Amino acid sequence: MTDLVVVGSGFYGLTVAERLANETGAKVLVIDRRSHIGGNAYSAAEPRTGIEVHQYGAHLFHTSNERVWEYVNRFTAFTNYVHRVYTTHKGEVYPMPINLGTINQFFRSALGPQAARDLIKEQAAELGGKEPENLDEKGVSLIGRPLYEAFIRHYTAKQWQTDPRELSASIISRLPVRYTYDNRYFNDTHEGLPVDGYTAWLERMADHPNIEVRLDTDFFDATQPINKGAVVGQVPVVYTGPVDRYFDYAEGELSWRTLDFEQEVLDVADFQGTSVMNYPDEDVPFTRIHEFRHFHPERDYPSDATVIMREYSRFARREDEPYYPVNTAADRAGLLKYRELTEGEPHVHFGGRLGTYQYLDMHMAIGSALSAVDNKLLPMLGARGN
Ligand code: FAD
Ligand code: UDP
Repeated sequence: MTDLVVVGSGFYGLTVAERLANETGAKVLVIDRRSHIGGNAYSAAEPRTGIEVHQYGAHLFHTSNERVWEYVNRFTAFTNYVHRVYTTHKGEVYPMPINLGTINQFFRSALGPQAARDLIKEQAAELGGKEPENLDEKGVSLIGRPLYEAFIRHYTAKQWQTDPRELSASIISRLPVRYTYDNRYFNDTHEGLPVDGYTAWLERMADHPNIEVRLDTDFFDATQPINKGAVVGQVPVVYTGPVDRYFDYAEGELSWRTLDFEQEVLDVADFQGTSVMNYPDEDVPFTRIHEFRHFHPERDYPSDATVIMREYSRFARREDEPYYPVNTAADRAGLLKYRELTEGEPHVHFGGRLGTYQYLDMHMAIGSALSAVDNKLLPMLGARGN
């Protein structure tokens, strides 16, 4: 007897399954349409080199949430990796996010923090003190026009394929601007990579006698014994697939960006000397190159080969993997309608990145799953007498 069906074995689904199996003794069936667990955090060793490759794009774990940090440490230890990104503009390499090093290199100057602030303020004066209304104006207000044109404008256009004047100012607020030489990519208290890889971590979360994971099983495939028609209303369901797909796109499609990854094994010890190099210029078609060996300098990787991955961004069609919610005004209106529809499904809890149409980092997906267990799922299963 199954007490709960979880659709999707990503961090959200596995956190729910692990907590409920351990806390209530409930029998949890996790299904996933892919042939592996872990959702987008899945990684595997590249067969020739043994180098761990994050199959759905590089995943860096970071959090300032103490509850999440304590929870994830039950399943894995973390290395002391600190993420740093560089960017190649017109044949020259600069540190990213923009910091005093980037500013002084770009302007061929030796400004101190206050002088650099004054310079950027002067360059942002073109906005005349106006509150920035879109990504373009926000970018200029934060770093001035010359740095914005060099490092942000074309990168953003490549990544979102949308005029920066039509994008939300909040996208650029993800990146810090620092008037020090600190070039850490993230500001969080805790940061690191799982010592023995993402998949070992995800498998440990699912390793419980009350958890069964069934792969290659699509919730919308009526020929499978566990499918939407057979299950909803009979057993509580936690659904972490796309919310518009659940309702058969009744309120239209929400827009997503997908990525194409071009992976190559090169016969060199080191291709770029760092894990991520961004390419902000218009004439380079990809946005960045990942070189996976640099995520684990502590590992004994081969010295005659390396794995790189170029990342290209485009709008997702229905058959593509949805990665980033574009979140236009039309999407926000559509999402509200889908939220109303979810209220008519009392036996289904919608969660995770796809189920809520929110760009959640891993720690946010895990944190929101822990809250949903406390506030909604434990009471729900408790009411079933488990
Ligand atoms: P997912 O991992 O997407 O899992 C959902 C699962 O549901 C999938 O396995 C899918 O196959 C399954 N599913 C969907 N529909 C069905 C169906 N009909 N039937 C059965 N199964 C179904 N976070 C960070 O913290 N740091 C990073 O550096 C980072 N980088 C990222 C880079 C990229 C390119 C992407 C896309 C995401 C990145 N993230 C990063 C975010 C991270 O991937 C998410 O936070 C995390 O995967 C969310 O987990 P989830 O369980 O909500 O969703
Ligand atoms: N960005 C940019 N240039 C860069 C890096 C980022 O213009 O070199 C902008 C871009 O608009 C991007 C946003 O900052 O969408 C957030 O960047 P982040 O690296 O957080 O994006 P992610 O890793 O989620 O793709």
